[in-house]
Amino acid sequence: MSADAPARKELTAVKGTHDILPGEVEVWQRVEAAATRLFESYGYRELRAPIIEPTELFEKGTGETTDIVTKEMYTFVDKGGRSITLRPEYTPSVARAIVEHRLDLLGLPMRYYYIGPMFRYDKPQKGRYRQFHQMDVEVFAEKDPAVDAEIIEMADALLRALGVTETETLINSVGCRACRPAYSRALREAAALVRDRLCPDCQRKIETNPLRIFDCKIDGCREAAQTLPKISAFLCQDCRDHFAGVRAALDLYGLAYKIDPNMVRGLDYYTKTTFEVVNLSGGQQNAVLGGGRYDDMMKDFGGPDIPGIGFALGVERLVAMLSLPPEPRRAVYVVHMGEKARVEALRLARLFRRAGVETLVEYGSRGFKAQFSRANKVGAAWVLIIGEDELAKGLFKLKDMAAGTQIEGAPAELLAVVKGKP
Ligand code: AMP
Repeated sequence: MSADAPARKELTAVKGTHDILPGEVEVWQRVEAAATRLFESYGYRELRAPIIEPTELFEKGTGETTDIVTKEMYTFVDKGGRSITLRPEYTPSVARAIVEHRLDLLGLPMRYYYIGPMFRYDKPQKGRYRQFHQMDVEVFAEKDPAVDAEIIEMADALLRALGVTETETLINSVGCRACRPAYSRALREAAALVRDRLCPDCQRKIETNPLRIFDCKIDGCREAAQTLPKISAFLCQDCRDHFAGVRAALDLYGLAYKIDPNMVRGLDYYTKTTFEVVNLSGGQQNAVLGGGRYDDMMKDFGGPDIPGIGFALGVERLVAMLSLPPEPRRAVYVVHMGEKARVEALRLARLFRRAGVETLVEYGSRGFKAQFSRANKVGAAWVLIIGEDELAKGLFKLKDMAAGTQIEGAPAELLAVVKGKP
C-alpha cells in the first residue's frame, strides 16, 4: 500500500448483530436439537415462514400502538414499491401461513414451532440485540386452559432439560374483549392522575392504548405503573374461570409459578393468559421467554375464528445461562508420507466420512512431525497413519491421541474402533 493510500475502514458486523462462531455454535446446535426433540414429543411440527413479510402483517397483527411496530421495525420499500418488514416476531407469520394455506381445514393438530432470527431496532445492550433468535411455539384451535398450562409446562421442561433452574414462571390474565374495555377506561382515568410522572411516550399512551404503559422500561413510569389499577379486579367470569383452570392444571403438574398482575406483555393481541419465564440471576434483560393466548388475532386478520396460544424464547438469553460441558471432538486426522500414501489417505478419508466419522486429511506433503502437530492443534481424537510400510501391508496405524496408545489394523477394523469407542 502506498504511504498516502486512505486507511482502510474495518468492516464489522452491523450494530446489534453478532456472529455465532464455531466453539459457541455447538451449544446452539445442542439447544436447538433438544428443543426440536421436545417440541415434537408434544406434537409440534416445524413451520418455516419467510424472514420478510408485508409491513401490514405486523401493523395488523402485532398492533399499531405497540413499541415493536411504532419504534422497532426494520421496514423498507422494495424495488416494486411494496412496504416490506424484517419480521420482529413470528406469531403473525404463522397466522398468515395458516390463512394462506388454509391449514385449519386439514384436520391436523395446528401445533407449530420454529427457530430463527427476528429483527428489532432497539437500543442494543447485553441480552438485547437487533438481530436475535427466537424459538417460537404456537398452538391454534385449542381453547382449553389445560393447553395454556401444557405450553407453560413444555417451556419449563425445555429449561430443565438444559439444566436451567434459576428461573421463575410468572403468569397473569389480561382479560378479553368483553372485560378489557372497562379496565382500559379505569386505567386511562387513573393514568391521567399520574400523567406528570410519565414519560411523553406514556402520556400519549394514556389516550391511544393505556395498557401499553406497563411495557415502558423507564424507572419513573414503572413506579407510576405500580399505582395503577390491576386487571385482575376487572376480569369477566369467563376469563376468571379460564385463569382458574390454568392454575389448577399447573398445580397438577406441580409447577411453581407466581401471579404477576402487572405482566401484560408488549403485544396487543393477547387475551386471557399471559406468561413469562424470568432469569432470577439475570440483569435488566431477564425475560428468557414470554407468551400468551390470542383468541381474536386470526379473526382480526380476516381469517377463520380460531383461538391461539404461543410463546417465544430468546435463544441468546438462554445460551447465556447455560454451562454445558463441552463435547469432545471425535475427529480422525489422516497423516501420510509419499505420493501413494497420499492417494490412500484421500481414499480412506472418504471411507471414514461415509461412515459418519469426522475426518480431516493433509493435502500437502509436510513431514510427519508437522502433520502430527496439526492434528494436535485441531484437537483430533485419533491420527490414522499411512506410511510406506503400512501401504505395503495394507494395515494402518491408529493412534489414540489422549491415551497415546497405537493399534494396527485393516481400515474396516480401525473404523470399528473409532465408531465403537464409548
Ligand atoms: P417478545 O417477543 O418481546 O415477547 O420476546 C420473547 C423473548 O425473546 C424474550 O423473552 C427474550 O428472551 C427474547 N427477545 C426479545 N427481544 C429481544 C432482543 N432485542 N434481543 C434478544 N432477545 C430478545
